[in-house]
Amino acid sequence: MMLRIKRVPTVVSNYQKEEAEEGGCGRNCLRNCCLPGAKLPLYAFKKVNKISCDNGFVDHVDKEAPVAFLDSLLLGEWEDRLQRGLFRYDVTACETKVIPGEYGFIAQLNEGRHLKKRPTEFRVDKVLQPFDENKFNFTKVGQEEVLFQFEPSSDDEVRFLPSAPIDVENSPSVIAINVSPIEYGHVLLIPRILECLPQRIDRESFLLALYMAAEAGNPYFRLGYNSLGAFATINHLHFQAYHLAVPFPIEKAPARKIATTNSGVKISNIVNYPVRGLVFEGGKTLEDLSNVVSDSCICLQDNNIPYNVLISDSGRRIFLFPQCYAEKQALGEVSPELLDTQVNPAVWEISGHMVLKRKKDYEEASEENAWKLLAEVSLSEERLEEVKDLIFEAIACKIDEDKAVTPTLIEDSTQSIEVPLQAPTLLWSLPSRSARF
Ligand SMILES: [Zn+2]
Repeated sequence: MMLRIKRVPTVVSNYQKEEAEEGGCGRNCLRNCCLPGAKLPLYAFKKVNKISCDNGFVDHVDKEAPVAFLDSLLLGEWEDRLQRGLFRYDVTACETKVIPGEYGFIAQLNEGRHLKKRPTEFRVDKVLQPFDENKFNFTKVGQEEVLFQFEPSSDDEVRFLPSAPIDVENSPSVIAINVSPIEYGHVLLIPRILECLPQRIDRESFLLALYMAAEAGNPYFRLGYNSLGAFATINHLHFQAYHLAVPFPIEKAPARKIATTNSGVKISNIVNYPVRGLVFEGGKTLEDLSNVVSDSCICLQDNNIPYNVLISDSGRRIFLFPQCYAEKQALGEVSPELLDTQVNPAVWEISGHMVLKRKKDYEEASEENAWKLLAEVSLSEERLEEVKDLIFEAIACKIDEDKAVTPTLIEDSTQSIEVPLQAPTLLWSLPSRSARF
């Protein structure tokens, strides 16, 4: 049986149309028709890999940086595209509120996001699907939607070039606007864009996402990932990111440590939260943390389990949620009242930032309603245990191969103690338009 659901695809680019307009193009896109001679800004980051031992901070503050990555470059360029009218609606005018209660779920009323689109059928029972050249992909966006190229520096120095050629041979990674933003500074990180990779985590791309989080260095700027079957709608590898100056409920949820890998990455169960999942932190290097999480994601993909990832705390803390909402939806097991809201529980909703499409739902938003929706997303306790077994086996195998040391995972004896995770250290807050409550 093939499971499909109908939903309204989110328009992430101004050139995302059903009909292809071939010949001459005229869109100033990133394909062969428009690429020759094209230039884009280039930010080359330093691959700093240490996680300093005293406070767990990624030692990544580079005072020599030629441009402030988040404040000046990313958000500056994003605001420039806002001025130029490239977004489909003004997200800075969307109402947002923190829902009263213990968790502080955040509700946003966003009526513009799904307008003027007919529902399309999405196949939701396959997490890995081949890249399809004929469907919308990010090489079709206009170059004006791309903010800059984001690449590791070749000489270990941070560099910024306001205008750099696009090296087609070494497919660049780029940061582009999402034309249907859900918050201030909503962008897409598209690893090696010209390689046309399908939506699928690999070690190198996940590490790139962590470097971006570390480079931004602001706990209010988070990255997220949705797999196919967990509300990604474009099968071209991408991460999302935006700035929102409040802690997310998931970041305040307690966690219980269950294992530590050889490389020092701590794995915990999230507790007292409607969606069951795992949180990863620590490790001797950023790459250690990245590899453990990406190997876990690869395991889920290989086992056809849809999932979402939140990269929090400037890349130091990563949440992983296997989920089953789309599957339940396709099987007709989700209640009509939840379906009526048309809320797609992707990474942001799961993290506690609820993007609501109807005024009624916004006005009636309560912690109870948010909880009810998110509980439908979660795997059962028994199923999560099975999934964890798969993940732990996969991580152990991977680390065995790399380091030839066993056993990799040490079951922790402190299982009965609930340790609330530290709230993210709030370094500074930007004079952001998103802080409106
Ligand atoms: Zn073109």
